[in-house]
Amino acid sequence: MRRQVNWTPYSDEDRCAFVAEWYDPNAALLRRYQLLYYTKDGSVEMFDMKSNRVFLKRTKYEDLHVEDLFVGNKINVFSRQLQLIEYADQYTARKLGSKKEKTLAVIKPDAFAKMGAIIELILSADLTITKMKMVLLTRKEAVDFYLEHQTKTFFNDLINFMISGPVIAMELLGDEAVCAWRRLMGPTNSATARSEEPNSLRAKFGTDGTKNATHGSDSVASAARELEFFFPTSGGRGPSNTAKYSDCTCCIIKPHAVSAKCTGTIIREIMDAGFEISALQMFKIEIANAEEFYEVYKGVVAEYSDMLVELCAGPCIAMEIRGEDAPKRFREFCGPSDPEIARHLRPKTLRARYGKSKVRNAVHCSDLPEDGLLEVQYFFKILEN
Ligand code: ADP
Ligand code: MG
Repeated sequence: MRRQVNWTPYSDEDRCAFVAEWYDPNAALLRRYQLLYYTKDGSVEMFDMKSNRVFLKRTKYEDLHVEDLFVGNKINVFSRQLQLIEYADQYTARKLGSKKEKTLAVIKPDAFAKMGAIIELILSADLTITKMKMVLLTRKEAVDFYLEHQTKTFFNDLINFMISGPVIAMELLGDEAVCAWRRLMGPTNSATARSEEPNSLRAKFGTDGTKNATHGSDSVASAARELEFFFPTSGGRGPSNTAKYSDCTCCIIKPHAVSAKCTGTIIREIMDAGFEISALQMFKIEIANAEEFYEVYKGVVAEYSDMLVELCAGPCIAMEIRGEDAPKRFREFCGPSDPEIARHLRPKTLRARYGKSKVRNAVHCSDLPEDGLLEVQYFFKILEN
């Protein structure tokens, strides 16, 4: 988990301090440490709080960033998973202890076709999408998810609606995210939303009282429960993805484009062009997986190792794209792989408009029709497990 932080150091020795817990499996003990992070050189230092001894000498650790540091987050320091449980001084609490929250957002079946526009609005409201998955709920899953409403008269309609098509589940992170997302959604009833909050999502994209475009958790506690339902962290798999593995090609929105907030726009353009997005999920790729995925480019493409670095640079979004003659048509839609060339020859293509360089060219798309299926399988069958 990572968030955006505007950190302005005020001295060369600027540091932040946390209380961190680590479960020591050998001793079956929770151990507590004071963890110091020095922003200037990205070094970390740890003290065992019980013995008051240095546990980790101040060491540069490049995998840790100030964006990772907030209470409630889990971080990895030299292969130990630590939970940040408190700010250890007022200075750190003031600088980093804002009201960051996570919430669950769902784009419901009636607004599925509008997901690009909805994602654009989420991102422009300063909410970060930290997890994302397209699923088709089973009846049992929908009932479990909405159990609190089982005695309501609208319950059956609600369940039938929620299983009538795919939904997009997202974890949103931001300042007071629970409230911020509910404010963006507007009133529960779409007609009420249109009269009272005409700019809200439910006003713009909702249909009626039940078909109201989006869902949002109503408290931090429900958010935790609902996020665990879609994105389990302790065992279980959550609802399955929707990949169809036929007549498909694979598209990946690359990390640079995700971090430049282009996700919504790119998805909107793909759908507007008539392609079907039949599976979609956010992934954080490890280098070993990037090597496997790009194996065919090794020794063939000069930028191979830079491509690996880019694919692992942050979250990316993988999609199964379907449509008549999808592999060929989708490649044309993406444009030449070098954005400079694309801007000259095919200025309207995705790469011409959102690409930055040969490596940071906005999207990956499968080269050959037979690769499409393999790449979709790689993400939605292999990586997902
Ligand atoms: P919200 O989604 O705004 O948190 P609730 O939790 O009260 O609203 O209800 C869950 C969902 O059930 C709503 O989003 C809507 O789809 C449906 N719903 C709620 N109230 C009604 C109602 N009076 N008639 C029909 N459907 C309703
Ligand atoms: Mg609710």
